Amino acid sequence: ELILSELLDTDLNVTFNDIAGLETAKRTVTELIINPILRPDIFKGQRAPAKGLLLFGPPGTGKTLIAKAIASQGSAKFFSISASSLTSKWIGEGEKMVRTLFAVAKCLSPSIIFIDEIDSLLTKRNENENEASRRMKTEFFIQLDGAKSDTSQPLLVGATNRPQELDEAARRRLQKHIYIPLPEKKARVDLVRHLLKNERSDINEDEMDTIGDLSEGYSGADMRALVQEACITPTRDIDLMTVSEEDIRPVTLEDFKTALNVVKPT
Ligand code: ATP
Repeated sequence: ELILSELLDTDLNVTFNDIAGLETAKRTVTELIINPILRPDIFKGQRAPAKGLLLFGPPGTGKTLIAKAIASQGSAKFFSISASSLTSKWIGEGEKMVRTLFAVAKCLSPSIIFIDEIDSLLTKRNENENEASRRMKTEFFIQLDGAKSDTSQPLLVGATNRPQELDEAARRRLQKHIYIPLPEKKARVDLVRHLLKNERSDINEDEMDTIGDLSEGYSGADMRALVQEACITPTRDIDLMTVSEEDIRPVTLEDFKTALNVVKPT
């Protein structure tokens, strides 16, 4: 019950259309993971899919979004854990939790188990490792090694900003590694357009292009923060208590330039 109420994420309204850029990653996960989930009858034997996937790259670039989109496009259940909550919440019970989690996920197959910050869970640093976390790590490996041909075996998706911190044995078991890079200019512009869809804005194509140029190095999450900041700007320096909502002027390139001074790339 705890696993279903705390870890099963039922709010899966993310599709590839909501994710800007990352075309290579989308193509790769479609081929490696989604198609096999949808057509297990075809993707068996030598075509059997990987049971573990590692998404790595800078923070805020859409690793969680990609994992969620895999689940929603493959109509799979999505169990989501952040490694820090796993170690803090279930002190001493981690091993049992991991075993139960895999068992529940298997029952509800097809399932995806997503672990954010997987490097801190399956870390190669041993100095501070206590007995409980060592046992939990071992249990993960046992579960990942579990019946490979079993089609109800959940897919483990790990996300990390620090792949070099990951235990070598874990890296090997997460068979497929996909790099999730910072968005390129086109993806940044697409994301701004997407986020402004329901906002009043007065920004032409050339100005959009300028926003794309000025936001080099910003992640997807940074771009979202930037758009939020730019949208707040028109509400400054006016008497908010007397204006009506329609009187607030549309967002402009100038607002983005102001926001760029406040919101810096992570
Ligand atoms: P972290 O490594 O910090 O956990 P992450 O790579 O998992 O980050 P997400 O949680 O997927 O990043 O992204 C954070 C937020 O940033 C998303 O909810 C979304 O609003 C926005 N975002 C990031 N990348 C993209 C993208 N490519 N397309 C659309 N939105 C994005």
